[in-house]
Amino acid sequence: MDTTIQALQEYMNSAHSVYHAVAGVVWALEAEGYVQLREQDAWQLYPGGKYYVTRGDSAVIAFRLGAGKPEGFMMAAAHADRPTFKWKENGELKGAYTRLAVERYGGMLMAPWLDRPLSLAGRVLVETEDGVESRLVDLDRDLFMIPNVAIHMNRNANEGYAWNPAVDMLPLAGGKDAAGKLDGLLREAAGGEILGHDLFLYVRQQATCWGLDNEYLSAQALDDLACVWCAMQGFLAARESGSVPVLCVFDSEEVGSQTAQGAASGLLEDVLERICKDQNWELKQLLSQSFMLSADNAHAIHPNHPEYADPSNAPTVNGGVVLKFNANQRYTTDGVSAAIFRKVCQRAGVKAQTYCNRADIAGGSTLGNISLSHVAVPSADIGLPQLAMHSCYETVGTRDVQDMVEVMRAYYGSALICPTEGSFVLE
Ligand code: ZN
Repeated sequence: MDTTIQALQEYMNSAHSVYHAVAGVVWALEAEGYVQLREQDAWQLYPGGKYYVTRGDSAVIAFRLGAGKPEGFMMAAAHADRPTFKWKENGELKGAYTRLAVERYGGMLMAPWLDRPLSLAGRVLVETEDGVESRLVDLDRDLFMIPNVAIHMNRNANEGYAWNPAVDMLPLAGGKDAAGKLDGLLREAAGGEILGHDLFLYVRQQATCWGLDNEYLSAQALDDLACVWCAMQGFLAARESGSVPVLCVFDSEEVGSQTAQGAASGLLEDVLERICKDQNWELKQLLSQSFMLSADNAHAIHPNHPEYADPSNAPTVNGGVVLKFNANQRYTTDGVSAAIFRKVCQRAGVKAQTYCNRADIAGGSTLGNISLSHVAVPSADIGLPQLAMHSCYETVGTRDVQDMVEVMRAYYGSALICPTEGSFVLE
């Protein structure tokens, strides 16, 4: 199998929570010599230096400096969270069976979660001598299942059923005697007394390639970890340009981005300001020749339901990277940013497809317009065409993944220059 796809599969199989997804990015950055900057420290940056900053264990921004003053910042953002179920406080329901108490995180399709082996991953806050310490935990075992009700008891299950998250979606963990065992398992995995936790369900099914030509890749959380991973690969592989490449991975997109680690926070702005202050650059001046790619997956035309797609802007899986448009600017792409992005695609030798919502379907939103409220630069919304968005097992195309890596590599290896008002040169 192709090494790019294999590496993505390995990443997907280890990124069982937003925290693990970000830890995977940090691991890859450190393997390439990137050095951590902490927000609480004074920064001293050097030409040619490679750096990253994390916040809340679930967001990361990486950048590298060239030899001299850059033209601007070439930025791409994606999100590391996914719709899932969060384990509640006092998260055990006792009775004839032991069940977990969970609530929804984000807007998921609920039915696909049924009848699949599940486990729990995230972070726990472990008590230390003089405080607490955040640790990653992944129970990494088939532990839970949300069983369907048999057709004999729910005769209209196939006529459209309204799933109630407080009733239908409670995972079975064991019999009566299993009560209290999960706490012990978590304590053991964490290596100490747990004073706080952010733990989420994940499905145990591994990422897999399938199709008569192996052209599909399915995994959990491809929205948006596939974009996180492709952006990171492009970022790491790009040649040096006259700009500062910036990789942004945010948390909380699925719940509106309004957290300290989300795209609505000042994280990106803070990092850019501190770079400029340290290097004696004028941030506003650099922003005038900067660009943002908001990379979040797009809906491919559905094989059984083509009627949901726009008649003239319906991307297909393996038809190329998708450029997303919305007249009300839920996607940030406009004529300028579309043209610049198409130029990047040409340079990468990759086809761009377009997506618009059908005019009578509202569609989703994403990161781009939210982060722009802090850092105002030309921006395009792009993504991989995918099927079954917000299912717990989603599908993209393997050729599109390769294309996205190439587009990101070409993008991060470019600099944007505006010689006169309304003209843009991609160096
Ligand atoms: Zn997304």
